[in-house]
Amino acid sequence: MAFYRPDYVRVKNAFTSKKEEAKAASEERRAALSAEIPELDSICRQLSATGPRIFEAALHPEGDLEGKIAAIRKENEALLAEQKRILAEHGYPEDWFDVKYECPICNDEGNVDGVMCVCMKKQLIEAGYETAGIAGLAATHNFETFDLSYYDYDSEIRSKMKYVFERVKNYAETFKVGASPSLLFLGGTGLGKTHLSVAAAKRVIELQNYVVYGTAQNIFADFEHEKFNKPYTDQSPSRTDKYYECDLLVMDDLGTELKSQAVTAFLYNLLNTRLGEGKPMIISTNLTTADAIVERYDERIGSRLLGEFLPYKFAGKDVRMLKLKKR
Ligand SMILES: [Zn+2]
Repeated sequence: MAFYRPDYVRVKNAFTSKKEEAKAASEERRAALSAEIPELDSICRQLSATGPRIFEAALHPEGDLEGKIAAIRKENEALLAEQKRILAEHGYPEDWFDVKYECPICNDEGNVDGVMCVCMKKQLIEAGYETAGIAGLAATHNFETFDLSYYDYDSEIRSKMKYVFERVKNYAETFKVGASPSLLFLGGTGLGKTHLSVAAAKRVIELQNYVVYGTAQNIFADFEHEKFNKPYTDQSPSRTDKYYECDLLVMDDLGTELKSQAVTAFLYNLLNTRLGEGKPMIISTNLTTADAIVERYDERIGSRLLGEFLPYKFAGKDVRMLKLKKR
């Protein structure tokens, strides 16, 4: 369990520059005002000598070192008070020269005493949504917005969907690479498969895992692109690596992509590799019977999907149509 490394590096670097910019901005404010107000310039110079003076005193510890340092500190406080007075006199806030960090908890360090700050965690999660491909969907497709009242018209369907919702939520909350199974969402269009797929992806990202979400159409388009544009000898990172590497792969709408032998081969390879490495997937499909799956792909894929994935049947009427009627 760890945030996706490239996201971490990117966010960490952003924190470093943010911190440096805040310091530079404070220095600029100081330089600009010191140039305008000579007495302020003198105070700033004396203040910046405080550190070296203490250091110098410590180099000659003979005599009353503590007394000497206390005296320097006292002078420093007086200078700071004078600085505040001058700032106020010229209509500036007393903290005008302070470095203005974005996060008051960690001063844009990203961590406090070796523990990651909430601000950095938040940014890593946002980066995770982006990397996963759910940045646009996460706000609307999450567990909080999954509305079971759409199934109120039939108590049996409602209780079935409540069960599915609770199982998937629990799955996301307890997700663990190498331990969690893969899930297969079966059902027609508009029954909430995409909603719960994205909701699971979102929660698993928040729990610091590397997740990739995509429609089968887009995922296989990437494989096609690679097959026809990248020579086998090219060892550079490719656009399909993420589908093998991520902790959780969420593939939406399997069965809506263009049918081809190549797609069957890509899919088998992907399923085989990920299952072999204990890396879970959530696949949703509108193919709802074993026959339909085998007919569209082949026996091997059928036995993988039906034998090694935990199936959840989505029931009910097209929620999208019900939403339109509700408006
Ligand atoms: Zn912080």
